Amino acid sequence: MITFHIITIFPEMFDSYLNESILARAIKNKKIVFKFYNPRDFTKDKHRKVDDKPYGGGPGMVMQAEPILLAVKKALSNKKKAKVIIFSPSGKKFTNQYASDLSKKYKDIILITGRYEGIDARVKKILKAEDVSIGDYVLTGGELPAMVLADAVSRQIDGVLGSNESIEEKRVAGKEVYTRPEVFIYKGKKYRVPKVLLSGHHKNIEKYRGNK
Ligand code: SAH
Repeated sequence: MITFHIITIFPEMFDSYLNESILARAIKNKKIVFKFYNPRDFTKDKHRKVDDKPYGGGPGMVMQAEPILLAVKKALSNKKKAKVIIFSPSGKKFTNQYASDLSKKYKDIILITGRYEGIDARVKKILKAEDVSIGDYVLTGGELPAMVLADAVSRQIDGVLGSNESIEEKRVAGKEVYTRPEVFIYKGKKYRVPKVLLSGHHKNIEKYRGNK
């Protein structure tokens, strides 16, 4: 079982994704757990302010360190060995290998999602956290990146994918996949399934898929 501790000011954003399909089943089967910590709940002023203007000027707002650190402290309570990740478009590139390593090494993964212009850099220093990017583009927040990482890590956990949903990328069907019908007619044109896949010749099929 892996627990994802998600630090976000928008916890509801995760609801629909986690309530369907494979991840919903994995949650039900206690393979994965999601816990949410809203930095707003750790603010001390009545406006529950979590951001402020950037030092040095510039547009946008920056998420303040303290509410996030208090939220992480709550998430970390009694955890000996948790991985702490901060999402940032300039972080280390997220890959399937990284997902697989996380799934093997950690039982608790803390995912800190930013908004606005990002998070006060002292959070990273204090927590000795790792900056992770899911790709070379800029999103409005770290919620989708957290979901992407949690999804990719979850499917690496034994029993999360059913036997019909093959896990190891080596065994996956390859770049192109086909299902019924054998001949699909679209706008009068016939689109056929490659013959080799219908041949029953496993060696040739593996070769075709690039698995060898
Ligand atoms: N001006 C900032 C952009 C902040 S985007 C900068 O250049 O760094 C707001 C938040 O969205 C970030 O704090 C981060 O948590 C998240 N985010 C945006 N794009 C992302 C990406 N490609 N990978 C991971 N997190 C991302």
